[in-house]
Amino acid sequence: MKTLEQIAANLQGYDPQSMTAADVHAFLAQLVSPVRETRELPLFDALGRVLAQDVVSPLDVPPHDNSAMDGYAFDGRQLATVAANGSLTLQVLGTAFAGKAWQGQLARGQCVKIMTGAIMPDGLDTVVPQELVTLQRDATTGKEQSIQLAAGVVHPGDNRRLRGEDLALGRSALQKGELLTPARLGLAASLGLKQLMTWRALRVAYFSTGDEILSLGDAPREGAVYDSNRYTIFGLLTRLGCEVIDMGVVRDDPPQLESAFVQAAGQADAIITSGGVSVGEADYTKAMMKKLGDVAFWRIAMRPGRPMAVGRIFCDKSVASARESSVDSYEQDSSSEGAVVFGLPGNPVAVMVTFLAFVRPALLQMMGARATPAPMLQAHSLEVIRKKPGRTEYQRAWVSNAPNGQLQVRTTGSQGSGVLRSMAEANGLLVLAHDQGNIAVGDVVSVMMFEGVV
Ligand code: AMP
Ligand code: MG
Repeated sequence: MKTLEQIAANLQGYDPQSMTAADVHAFLAQLVSPVRETRELPLFDALGRVLAQDVVSPLDVPPHDNSAMDGYAFDGRQLATVAANGSLTLQVLGTAFAGKAWQGQLARGQCVKIMTGAIMPDGLDTVVPQELVTLQRDATTGKEQSIQLAAGVVHPGDNRRLRGEDLALGRSALQKGELLTPARLGLAASLGLKQLMTWRALRVAYFSTGDEILSLGDAPREGAVYDSNRYTIFGLLTRLGCEVIDMGVVRDDPPQLESAFVQAAGQADAIITSGGVSVGEADYTKAMMKKLGDVAFWRIAMRPGRPMAVGRIFCDKSVASARESSVDSYEQDSSSEGAVVFGLPGNPVAVMVTFLAFVRPALLQMMGARATPAPMLQAHSLEVIRKKPGRTEYQRAWVSNAPNGQLQVRTTGSQGSGVLRSMAEANGLLVLAHDQGNIAVGDVVSVMMFEGVV
């Protein structure tokens, strides 16, 4: 575990009063470390977790050569004998259903009706789809008798799925550090795996601070606003697959703040607070973070979200030992290094932006996920955007397809850092880089989408 001082010494020109977004990423990458405990989970519980072990395929998928179509299977060598505008006639000898092998021998001029997924009978390599043949039935029984296919409709080997084509035995199927998406769960299931070894879920505690913050159910009063940050943070953390510990609203009161931090640090790997990190008089949050931990206070060249506090809060070991501790492996737990704290600004949009830009990648690293930055879309701006070089700006935006199929983007109204409505109307954040100046209509800009499709 590195101290903040040691991390700072590794970074060129580190200045807490003037951080760029890139400085913040570089700092956080050194501050956080992955959890070290694993959980072996049944597939249904593993969605959204991170794989702690490579998965090597224990079998061939598919296990046999099989048909990709409903049609007729035959030996494709016979196609070589068909004249350019001729046709091939084959006698239908039987039917191969999915799930059981068709037993029998075929001679030249014969074929087997075959269903999608059925094992290819020995010696047969080609399937002609049923819609490409002319079928002859027995006049009295109605039984399929023969098919005729024109030259060129299929080639040898067509419509056959090869054994192991999806995954061959012994080949790497999934890698440690991959997030378990729906497709990866399906892949694991296709290998017959009932459980997967995952890193244990990250535990993240969060609370809002401020005397003016009302909890839901409180009666409105002058000068007070309902707490929205706990709900956005809850949503962001839950979507990320974290275990959340909601600690409510904490007053601008040192003893209450102290007990909230101590409790949070005793239970969680990370603590997220909102409010109280700017220079306001009642901002006791900063003082308490200083008292209980090793915390840096930054001014970040960004908008929204300039102030942010980051570091570690240490807790009383007696609280820590009361934690739930049913784990499958007993390497030293990363939480003995204290809980990482992210002190976010109070403004609701600043909270979401700093979370998406900085906290999310840091938490993914703590979850043991291989860092894969979300792909940025490039879209044409539908409007003029004023932007001062010298800070990174995040604007709430809506990305859509223009009639010509290209991506276009517009902002979603007032960009005030407290205006959550324009955030709720957005599907992404337009990211205007540090050195970027004004944007003209039609200029290509980068957009960070809020989330993936699955
Ligand atoms: P602060 O950083 O504590 O000075 O807060 C900045 C602004 O964000 C103030 O207008 C606060 O009222 C507002 N704010 C702080 N926390 C919350 C919250 N949990 N929900 C909604 N607004 C908040
Ligand atoms: Mg406040």
